[in-house]
Amino acid sequence: MSRVFNFSAGPAVLPEEVLKQAASEMTDWRGSGMSVMEMSHRGKEFVSIAEKAEADLREIMNIPNNYKVLFLQGGATSQFAMVPMNLLMGKKTADYINTGQWSKKAISEAKRYCNVNVVATSEANNFTTIPPQSEWKFDPNAAYFHYTPNETIGGVEFHNIPEADNVPLIADMSSTILSRPVDVSKFGLIYAGAQKNIGPAGLTIVIIREDMIGEPTSGTPLMLSYKTHADNGSMYNTPPTYAWYIAGLVFEWIKKKGGLKAMAGINKRKADKLYTAIDNSDFYKNPVDKKCRSCMNVPFILKNPELDKTFIEESKKAGLVALKGHRSVGGMRASIYNAMPEEGVDALISFMEEFKKKNG
Ligand SMILES: *Cc1c(COP(=O)(O)O)cnc(C)c1O
Repeated sequence: MSRVFNFSAGPAVLPEEVLKQAASEMTDWRGSGMSVMEMSHRGKEFVSIAEKAEADLREIMNIPNNYKVLFLQGGATSQFAMVPMNLLMGKKTADYINTGQWSKKAISEAKRYCNVNVVATSEANNFTTIPPQSEWKFDPNAAYFHYTPNETIGGVEFHNIPEADNVPLIADMSSTILSRPVDVSKFGLIYAGAQKNIGPAGLTIVIIREDMIGEPTSGTPLMLSYKTHADNGSMYNTPPTYAWYIAGLVFEWIKKKGGLKAMAGINKRKADKLYTAIDNSDFYKNPVDKKCRSCMNVPFILKNPELDKTFIEESKKAGLVALKGHRSVGGMRASIYNAMPEEGVDALISFMEEFKKKNG
């Protein structure tokens, strides 16, 4: 069977070149006589894989030398707890902005450890916009400011880095990391689950400025302390070796494609086409405020929701899969991460036009 165009929000499509390379190296990694999955994480083969992946990520994201890159487990969801456990540093409050379902989850977890000051929320607008920065109310005693640059479910994205109130800026970049260049030096900490735009599930990447690595709140398990992982090169225990290796292949693929500037150009073209197709029809609709539409996750609803089921069934038959919207939004969602080829977006747009002709 040939490959489908997979619009899943995550775990998501990976570059076909990467999968083929992994397949060719599956049983014997470059003459080692074993699979990467079977290697000791402390052996020289895996250490070379790990170091190359980190070096390539540093190169493509232009990560300054005073930042550590950690390869962890536990998903972005564990970071919802690790961030307050490690970064409160004796303070009692943290600032969060609430722009969608993932912000909300980060906030409810942080509330277990501190007072959360919600600087602004777009919940009353059904998370279809970002409140203007002029309306945000920071707490002067906050330890840090946390935001979600791209809300994967609502399809809402910050197109500029917000100004934090002289406190470290923390970002959950799970669904936007590597989609375009970003000035890492503006952040205290960036985290991302790998399964959207990096590689397989099971790996979580944390990029942390060195001065943010300190003693966590007393009682914090060693595994949940950034210091533990930073001091041990992410090998305090067995890291997710195979996911780390695949992520490394993805970083090489991005380098070959021309880096993040090139990715940004392709991503913008893909997203623009799809939004234009939606906006130019009275059959489809994207509910998000135009200035904060996501380049990665494009939700759209049909004018007649009774057709949702037919749309999903027929698109699947046409080789376009996982377009069902999140249960909290309904309708459809097309996730168009780096690895979604432009032909996939073109095929989706053609399908949408045909479907409209038949059912409009
Ligand atoms: C998917 C996602 C998460 C949750 O990630 P897990 O790795 O499943 O814990 C958190 N935040 C954002 C923005 C996401 O897209």
